[in-house]
Amino acid sequence: MQSKLKSQLLERARAIGADDVRVTAATLPTEHTDRLRQWLDAGRHGEMDYMARSGEKRASAETVLPGAKSVIIFAFGYGQQKAMPVYSVDEVGSAKVRVAKYALGEDYHLVLRQRLEPVVEWLSTELPGNQWRVCVDSAPLLERAFAVEAGIGFWGKNTMVLSPRAGSFFFLAEIVTTAEIAPDPPITGTCGNCTRCIDACPTAAIVAPYELDARKCISYLTIEKKSELTAEESSQLHGWAFGCDICQDVCPYNKFTNPTPVAEFEEGRIVHASESVETFGEPASNSAFERRFAKSPILRPGRRRVQRNARLAARKRG
Ligand code: SF4
Ligand code: SF4
Repeated sequence: MQSKLKSQLLERARAIGADDVRVTAATLPTEHTDRLRQWLDAGRHGEMDYMARSGEKRASAETVLPGAKSVIIFAFGYGQQKAMPVYSVDEVGSAKVRVAKYALGEDYHLVLRQRLEPVVEWLSTELPGNQWRVCVDSAPLLERAFAVEAGIGFWGKNTMVLSPRAGSFFFLAEIVTTAEIAPDPPITGTCGNCTRCIDACPTAAIVAPYELDARKCISYLTIEKKSELTAEESSQLHGWAFGCDICQDVCPYNKFTNPTPVAEFEEGRIVHASESVETFGEPASNSAFERRFAKSPILRPGRRRVQRNARLAARKRG
């Protein structure tokens, strides 16, 4: 019964553009909470206070749905058609600034929530009497750890989940449920001797294999950090106005990833990977900014921070 349900689930997942779907239990093994605790105690989450507030609660899906028994986890690739240029230090100071691939199209929170709705409807008829909750990077869940437990991929030294099928350029989305569904096993996989991501990170944010100091990471500085950037931080954007892909661009697991089948995520839908500074600088009011970046994740940090990032990213260093 459950294997039939799983194969139908995979079919439905593929039909809505997902690369993979797997299931795991609602509570993570303690190794994930131990790791989270060490990271938080070292202060590596910076100003992401929500991480500290929810802490270990993120390891149980009961936090988002009381009585939860299973987490169904989907991976949606956002690889692009065009080969994206790998970062080069010579580009810094150009009139173009860089945008992380995940933010080139429409906001995945909205797109994936919509795409998962019919799957929830179907599951509700297959397994009646249960509750279902869709989570897309908005609920307090250790999404990547759930993905590793479900066998979507394994931990990379850059702290991303590496899927042998999809590399690491994919979004995660979950359906948490009170239904008991047989879990899938984790997969084995390893970075081996590779250290490309650690060597390529321009801010040395990957302080050791599998350990990221978010406070040094360009993604954190351009998107998450709410207070002003220090002079040192301001000089560390290396051409990036929104996010950073370097430690994924250099990863051999991303060499052969397929372009996304989800039209909303395609490069140029909202912005290009290499975008002119003016694109960000031009909107002269919050409402103009909201119109230009409607449906984009670029809206999230707000106009002031995005425009500051673009200015700093374009600035010549030294
Ligand atoms: S996203 Fe960029 S800054 Fe952050 S760890 Fe990766 S390479 Fe370093
Ligand atoms: S670049 Fe190499 S070390 Fe880093 S995550 Fe990819 S395989 Fe692992």
